[in-house]
Amino acid sequence: MGCNIAIDGPAGAGKSTIARRVAGELSFIYVDTGAMYRAMALYLLNRHVNGEDGDKVAAVCQEAEISIEYRDGEQIVLLNGENVNPYLRTEQVGNMASLSSANPKVREHLLKLQRNLASSHDVVMDGRDIGTTILPDADVKIYLTASVHTRAARRYLELSEKGLPCSLEEIEHDIAERDERDMNRQVSPLKKAEDAVLVDSSDMGIDEVVAKIMGIYREKVES
Ligand code: C5P
Repeated sequence: MGCNIAIDGPAGAGKSTIARRVAGELSFIYVDTGAMYRAMALYLLNRHVNGEDGDKVAAVCQEAEISIEYRDGEQIVLLNGENVNPYLRTEQVGNMASLSSANPKVREHLLKLQRNLASSHDVVMDGRDIGTTILPDADVKIYLTASVHTRAARRYLELSEKGLPCSLEEIEHDIAERDERDMNRQVSPLKKAEDAVLVDSSDMGIDEVVAKIMGIYREKVES
């Protein structure tokens, strides 16, 4: 069993940036579970499946083989053998991921992959239900959040820097809608595990958040 750090929180809270940095400092593997749900969403979009059609999503998701590789420390998501990393970060894929990830069959499909990675490596794993469902015995659990406005502004900047056209208002609306879905779904809703430490990054810079989580890690694991 590896040492496991779980970082959960809503869309745009900075989980991936922070988790990657913490993993780098500790020489752990960074596991981005959102990318796995996004790869599944991409598959469903490519197959023209309506994300609201639960039965169809449940059936078609079985055909998607998702696996992970690491190249130069970067997580590569393979969808039926193809590297799909370049296609995962669009709002369309994110919205489909939020819809389809509420489906129990989709979650079941990805659970084993996530647990296998955590049992064979030291990992920092980020997602929505890592501390509550996937790794309930994680050594360190963090619930990382920020206000809707802050999260939307960060996503806007990220997309603009990549030259992707977007509107702040639309992103804010999408984030609020995604929170609502992620927090209120029947299976594995996003919520803070009882033993997770809450970190609100609304008024914190990246270095500050990384230092805070490293402090929590040292207190729990190294002391
Ligand atoms: O974190 P990211 O925005 O990449 O995740 C995309 C979507 O995948 C989220 O909106 C969420 O609905 C879903 N997800 C999930 N459980 C996880 C990770 C992501 O339901 N562990």
